[in-house]
Amino acid sequence: MTTTSTASGFTATGAGAEFPVGTVEPDYVLTEALGTDPASVFAGIGDGDREYWDRARRFVQDEVLPVIDSYWERADYPVHLVGRLGELDLLRDGVQVDGFPTMSRMAAGLVNMEISRGDGSVATMIAVQGGLALRSIAECGSAEQQQRWLPAVAAGKEFAAFALTEPTHGSDAVALESTATSTAGGFLLNGEKKWIGNGSVGGVCVVWARGEDGQVHGYLVPQDSPGYSATKIEGKLALRAIWQAHIRLENVFVPQENVLPGARTFKDTARVLLATRLGVAWSAVGHATACYETAVQYAKQRMQFGRPLAASQIVQERLARMLSELATMQLMVVQMTRLDEEGALTPEQASLAKYTCTRIARGIASNARDLLGGNGILLANRVARHLADIEAIHTYEGTETMQALIIGRGITGISAFA
Ligand SMILES: Cc1cc2nc3c(=O)[nH]c(=O)nc-3n(C[C@H](O)[C@H](O)[C@H](O)COP(=O)(O)OP(=O)(O)OC[C@H]3O[C@@H](n4cnc5c(N)ncnc54)[C@H](O)[C@@H]3O)c2cc1C
Repeated sequence: MTTTSTASGFTATGAGAEFPVGTVEPDYVLTEALGTDPASVFAGIGDGDREYWDRARRFVQDEVLPVIDSYWERADYPVHLVGRLGELDLLRDGVQVDGFPTMSRMAAGLVNMEISRGDGSVATMIAVQGGLALRSIAECGSAEQQQRWLPAVAAGKEFAAFALTEPTHGSDAVALESTATSTAGGFLLNGEKKWIGNGSVGGVCVVWARGEDGQVHGYLVPQDSPGYSATKIEGKLALRAIWQAHIRLENVFVPQENVLPGARTFKDTARVLLATRLGVAWSAVGHATACYETAVQYAKQRMQFGRPLAASQIVQERLARMLSELATMQLMVVQMTRLDEEGALTPEQASLAKYTCTRIARGIASNARDLLGGNGILLANRVARHLADIEAIHTYEGTETMQALIIGRGITGISAFA
């Protein structure tokens, strides 16, 4: 009988053993960024945009991946990363702020993708603080409000939240019931908000409420205002490393100077939401990239039946399918972003991007999870976290069905929402 130790740590025992046996499992190396770009869609990315992308990638490799599983498992919020995103100028989601360099829509998309490749909770910090709150103030705020809040929020020195959804109004947020009634020197806000990222961590909250004219308006509410109370939502199975809050507003006084002058109807709210929808599609590409790249690395390292999983035809076909789907997503977000930069992106196109990418990403994550076998449900092997987090981005900023109804209205000319 012969016993041979192999470099991989496996031990082949007995003459004629057909494949390595042994009980020591190798430490799989699964987090390398492989630069997957089968259709060379990123080949033409300009230097300025690439610089943002590279910075995001370094941040993910050095500061996100080493710590995120622990925060995710404890459902703890690594708030220091908001500050770091601000310091690295990765928090703005392409919103222009005086004193900050130009950040193109493409750069914002690449950052969303890259940070999501690392972690969905960290990407959601950008979506909430930069994409929604900062953009609301930039698009609807007065010069004084912009001066007061934009630099601090963009730099991650102050937290910012965006409170639209209510416990009884999600997809039909247009029917929101929180109210703003006039009082001496301003307004009193009453109502409830649910699922509000950053809603319980201090800073400013952009609250959407119905005024006495029946229209939806935006109000800047410091979270330490009397009557503002926020409870962290517990028991989430997705995006566990960022907190969402259930907010109660009881006669919260908002001075006139904190009313967003450019938010006069729900159409203004919808304008902000439209600008961020494509960003969620980019995030889906990031999640799918992480899952695909993990699956490739695992398939090459995991030995079964005496050979790597990657040597099986079926595994190769599955990887090919994932790659094909990923290429579709990449082509779509890059083309839609080009349209966005030309000012030509339609709401239906933004919805098509989100609808397509979050749906495909869900499939890739599920396929990758299966390919990792039992190891696929372990946090340490990345895929399970992405699989869970995709469920949240599939829902927020308009569910898959809402996107389908926007696309369907475009196809048929018939609104089928109600
Ligand atoms: C992790 C997370 C973070 C979030 N962050 C924020 C935030 O920071 N700020 C904020 O304001 N909101 C936030 N949201 C809220 C999010 O935008 C809503 O969850 C989303 O709009 C869906 O609303 P809902 O959950 O109430 O689902 P519902 O609207 O109750 O939908 C339930 C299901 O019914 C379907 N449905 C609804 N209407 C129709 C219809 N007419 N026809 C067919 N099907 C329909 C939906 O597609 C869905 O499948 C967040 C949500 C999550 C999960």
